[in-house]
Amino acid sequence: MQDSWIRAARSVLEEEQIRMDEPMSAHTTFRIGGPADLFLEPRKEQVGPLLAALRKTDIPLMILGNGSDLLVGDKGIRGAVIHIGNEMDQIGINGEQIEAQAGAPLSRVARQAQRAGLSGMEALSGIPGSLGGAVMMNAGAYGSTMEDVIASVEVLTEGGEIRNYSLGEMHFSYRHSRIREEGSVVLSAVLRLKRGEAGEIDAVMTDLTRRRTLKQPLEMASAGSTFKRPQGYFAGKLIQDAGLRGYRVGQAQVSEKHCGFVVNRGGASAAEVRQLMADVQAKVKEKFGVDLEPEVRFVGEF
Ligand SMILES: Cc1cc2nc3c(=O)[nH]c(=O)nc-3n(C[C@H](O)[C@H](O)[C@H](O)COP(=O)(O)OP(=O)(O)OC[C@H]3O[C@@H](n4cnc5c(N)ncnc54)[C@H](O)[C@@H]3O)c2cc1C
Repeated sequence: MQDSWIRAARSVLEEEQIRMDEPMSAHTTFRIGGPADLFLEPRKEQVGPLLAALRKTDIPLMILGNGSDLLVGDKGIRGAVIHIGNEMDQIGINGEQIEAQAGAPLSRVARQAQRAGLSGMEALSGIPGSLGGAVMMNAGAYGSTMEDVIASVEVLTEGGEIRNYSLGEMHFSYRHSRIREEGSVVLSAVLRLKRGEAGEIDAVMTDLTRRRTLKQPLEMASAGSTFKRPQGYFAGKLIQDAGLRGYRVGQAQVSEKHCGFVVNRGGASAAEVRQLMADVQAKVKEKFGVDLEPEVRFVGEF
């Protein structure tokens, strides 16, 4: 690691916001991943100055939310991981709108909405991402997606400018938004919800949580659905029909409960997960002629 990188981080952040050689396994829901050279946790107003200072050096940068969609390599991440997390998790309610910082967990935003008698977040409440991560990839579940509730999104552009995008300007589509293409950072978002009855909203959330818990291996470490839904098929069903339920490479396994998930049985390496995914893709292609595209993002060195 270069001294100039550390100096740049120290020019904006306090010492307790900077970690070195931080194991990424502690910051991913897969519980997998080697060390990040620098792991930085800015407050919202520090994100712009921090990125500006870092960009004056040659440091590679990566934005991290809750790490629930990532497979980080066993050799870790060279450069800096900017964690949009605990230091950026404020949530405010104003009438039927919620304004929340990007590091707020989606589940907490949904719970606050429920308590305030605001409906719209119920189906999204079980997605274990940060608000920023969910906005960036237009996360969705049970027929709802982030674009159904977004009013506007505050971003820091790659050029260092703060901009507010309206819903229309976000270019949302299936698991996609303009954030991904342009490499900007989501700082906060305003959600527009509808008046509802707190008890009824709670009942819907409880029912969906129950359905999720019954179907998905939430008791084990994973990164959710491993592959995108191929046109006209379900990835989990194809994997099951290929006879791969419970298939293992080391400690990585196709979930016995839901074949669309790869789980870490404890101590799985990224290399094992990657191998398992390649085996699954090859088998499904051979049996059904369908190409499975990873939903989980590979980052760092393997
Ligand atoms: C058990 C389980 C169930 C899941 N169920 C669902 C589901 O029902 N529906 C669904 O859509 N997904 C689901 N997921 C996947 C995941 O939770 C979502 O994709 C979520 O939106 C990822 O958010 P995150 O904060 O964890 O992002 P991360 O995994 O930290 O990052 C994902 C990507 O977003 C980028 N990113 C993160 N924060 C920001 C930001 N503030 N600004 C710009 N870029 C950013 C990162 O650079 C990275 O490229 C599930 C995952 C698990 C483990």
